[in-house]
Amino acid sequence: MALDILIAGGGIGGLAAALALQRDGHRVTVCEAAAELKPLGVGINLLPHAVAVLDELGLMPVLASMAVPTSALVFANRHGQTIYEDVRGLAGGYSHPQFSVHRGELQQLLWREAATRLGAERLVSGWRITGAQLDGDEVIAHGVDATGARVARRASVLIAADGIHSAIRRQFHPDEGAPRWNGMMMWRGTSLARPFLDGRTMVQAGHRRAKFVVYPIAPPRPDGLQLINWICDRRLREDGLGGGLTAPGREDWNKPGSIDDLMPTFGGWRFPWLDVPGVIRGATQLLEWPMVDRDPLPRWRHGRITLLGDAAHPMYPIGSNGATQAILDAAAIARALREERRVETALANYEADRRPMCARIVELNRQEGLDYILDMVEERAPDGFARLEDVIDPAEIDAFVKRYKAVAGHRQAAMGEAALPSPR
Ligand SMILES: Cc1cc2nc3c(=O)[nH]c(=O)nc-3n(C[C@H](O)[C@H](O)[C@H](O)COP(=O)(O)OP(=O)(O)OC[C@H]3O[C@@H](n4cnc5c(N)ncnc54)[C@H](O)[C@@H]3O)c2cc1C
Repeated sequence: MALDILIAGGGIGGLAAALALQRDGHRVTVCEAAAELKPLGVGINLLPHAVAVLDELGLMPVLASMAVPTSALVFANRHGQTIYEDVRGLAGGYSHPQFSVHRGELQQLLWREAATRLGAERLVSGWRITGAQLDGDEVIAHGVDATGARVARRASVLIAADGIHSAIRRQFHPDEGAPRWNGMMMWRGTSLARPFLDGRTMVQAGHRRAKFVVYPIAPPRPDGLQLINWICDRRLREDGLGGGLTAPGREDWNKPGSIDDLMPTFGGWRFPWLDVPGVIRGATQLLEWPMVDRDPLPRWRHGRITLLGDAAHPMYPIGSNGATQAILDAAAIARALREERRVETALANYEADRRPMCARIVELNRQEGLDYILDMVEERAPDGFARLEDVIDPAEIDAFVKRYKAVAGHRQAAMGEAALPSPR
């Protein structure tokens, strides 16, 4: 049965959902608050199971031309010495590559595809949804347009994909308050630099008080330079473990950052294969974002209204899960509506499929995710090591990585499908 589906938010989650639902024959409209879509943000990662969803939507060729197929995730100490290397993509036993890509460019790709497939008139920019009400078998979404005028739209289903500050989530959970901060600030930048290592590796180096994450997000240019995404994490408060704090200012993905905040900590970090301060100084863009999330909700659905992506489960950007889980939500909601004709039951099935898993990732990331490994090594060998085995048992690391990946739903042939929480 073809439904009229309204999606609040034209981010990666909302647009992936729009494409998946349109493919199933639904009439989909997306209302995006931004009047004009600009390529905002820096790098993100798409894990193979999210890439598989985009592949099914026919986006693989264009994605492959703009993204970097990540070959490995390397954990290193702050001297650039490798602690653990996790092979990613096809060579790691996955059915699809992992892609590192510019967030804004991915969003623009999805927007263009949605404009072609849904019809440009079904992408409504400059509309900020402010609330919604149930009306029999319909939902009425209220909002304001770019001129500030009040607007309203009816649909059979409303999917709120309006990000970490979701208006619809706030309507149903008015006492939730601000996102929870763990005391860590992230400076996110891009620089043009010579490719490092094999030109396809993601590295996380340092420890829980200061960490440098770096990976390329576009193929090398003809002049040999490559767009590199990097993140400097600094712990500003020690009392925020698990997320008990409120961030110093309202979280804004576009807030500019300053290099002066980074050099005292990272100015001396030189890896054998990367000049960290050189990369930081070469920033073409530098943004600041606190490490925030929200507590998992007891429910996402209210009648024919549900949440998706960061609106449903904002999580620390650890383990490449932000965009990945939003895309998995998109596939799951389309599947649920395909398999069950009763709309409210289908939305309940979608939630049963996705909410527990996303809650587990939120909780696991609060335990610092894979960063836990870096911290152990820093504590035991702050000046570096001659032999890693003298510092940590590699089997201990391996076990930790496998546990994290199982929770995050990685589908790797070597891991055994039976161990995974979500077999679909
Ligand atoms: C501008 C921006 C830059 C980002 N940069 C990065 C980055 O560099 N690295 C990273 O890891 N993650 C970044 N993120 C977050 C990342 O995109 C998400 O964690 C992930 O992709 C899940 O996406 P989402 O679609 O659920 O949410 P989002 O990507 O947050 O998208 C939500 C969308 O909804 C729109 N919106 C918000 N409120 C309303 C409303 N009331 N009505 C209608 N539309 C609304 C927003 O404009 C946005 O387009 C960024 C998000 C944004 C919005």
